Amino acid sequence: MADDGVNVAVVGAGAAGLTGAIAAAETLAQDGNSGRVLLLDGAKQIGAKILVSGGGRCNVTHEVITPKDFFGNRNIIRNILAAFPVERTIAWFKSLGVDLKREPTGKLFPTTDDARTVLNALLDRARGAGVIIRPSHRVSEVTTSGEGFLVRHNHGTAQASRVMLATGGLALPRTGSDGFGYRLARGFGHRVTPTVPALVPLVLDRSMFHATLSGLSHDVELTTLLDGREVDRRTGSLLWTHFGISGPVVMDASRFWTLATNRGEQVDLYGNFVPGRTSEALKEWFVTQTAEHPRRSLARMLSVLVPDRFAESLCRHCSCDPLELMAQVARRNRERVLSTLTRLRLPIERDRGWNFAEVTAGGVPLEEINYRTMESKLVSGLYLIGEMLDCDGRIGGFNFQWAWTTGWLAGQSAGRSVPATKFHLSA
Ligand SMILES: Cc1cc2nc3c(=O)[nH]c(=O)nc-3n(C[C@H](O)[C@H](O)[C@H](O)COP(=O)(O)OP(=O)(O)OC[C@H]3O[C@@H](n4cnc5c(N)ncnc54)[C@H](O)[C@@H]3O)c2cc1C
Repeated sequence: MADDGVNVAVVGAGAAGLTGAIAAAETLAQDGNSGRVLLLDGAKQIGAKILVSGGGRCNVTHEVITPKDFFGNRNIIRNILAAFPVERTIAWFKSLGVDLKREPTGKLFPTTDDARTVLNALLDRARGAGVIIRPSHRVSEVTTSGEGFLVRHNHGTAQASRVMLATGGLALPRTGSDGFGYRLARGFGHRVTPTVPALVPLVLDRSMFHATLSGLSHDVELTTLLDGREVDRRTGSLLWTHFGISGPVVMDASRFWTLATNRGEQVDLYGNFVPGRTSEALKEWFVTQTAEHPRRSLARMLSVLVPDRFAESLCRHCSCDPLELMAQVARRNRERVLSTLTRLRLPIERDRGWNFAEVTAGGVPLEEINYRTMESKLVSGLYLIGEMLDCDGRIGGFNFQWAWTTGWLAGQSAGRSVPATKFHLSA
């Protein structure tokens, strides 16, 4: 089948590109336009990131989506999200044959608990809508040509009336998202704000006790300070690992650390392992406990508040004997333990890098995009969607919601805006 002349060419067949291609093809068909949609991806296997997402189960979206779940220009994000809210996402997936179920955290997964269900449904729908899917087609250049575009790839050149850039960011580059799309966007005059890994685990200095706790997770209130000023505070589960810290609360907070470090600013992370309680409040508790259980060990007493293994490590970190009897704990040791318990500085050495990041912070500024259509404000007929834009969500299905929403908006707009069939294709 010839695909050198098409109405819409989509570069990148991830979550955003697949949705954009489907929406464009279905809109063209609705309008009785016999045009074609070409979906190009450099990877041999399409949808690798969807398959590994959510631990192989694909956290498709979240039951409640608000602009606060995202970072970027929230006014623009609000408008974009409103165009394809979560109820429509759920209904759209149902129409694709994917039923979603809600987990207690509010995350929505396919009832099959298998990410392949999501990928197969998207691919089936795309094929059904007549989208021409081309894996192993790496795009090297996109330029304007007359009223349309020329899309150069490793098998030739396609001529397209509209182009959608959906090349993702830099997270998990082995899936094909290696940041080349930013170069394509820059080629059209778009800016790209500094890009750093987000939703990424953090590596701790070797002086910390993390390695002995590997595998342990518990709740913490994590506070990020930028040059001494609090910029983020969140509570959730922290996972100790052989390299440092991970778990939802760390992943969500990591963007503040990576962005600030990239700017060369001083950034510090502190953990309160008894969320919501201060060391002052705990002092009273400690005194009462000492009076009631004078012969109990310090670590045993602390394990009422935190897991045993963490209590022991924390005592040693404070140069206290975990087995010391409560009645014998010196006042200055008590104060040191309680202040460390509620404000432990986590000495971050580095983030774990793009191979372990789930998303990119930074990208093409949303101000350069028409939020009603996802069309570039600089180049008419060019659309930018998904992770390549300067918007990142927290953990919980928000990043996919961004991909479905922007893809759907751009697909509809591109499909509607295409002039009556322009290219005559031979099958
Ligand atoms: C391990 C992991 C787990 C995740 N789990 C979840 C989750 O459960 N829920 C959630 O909401 N989010 C999750 N995310 C984030 C989510 O996967 C991304 O936000 C989303 O996939 C971004 O979609 P996208 O289409 O914009 O980009 P991508 O999915 O990155 O797709 C971009 C595509 O463009 C192609 N491409 C790039 N350059 C070119 C080129 N020059 N020519 C041709 N093709 C090109 C790539 O091969 C790729 O297929 C996870 C991410 C990771 C890494």
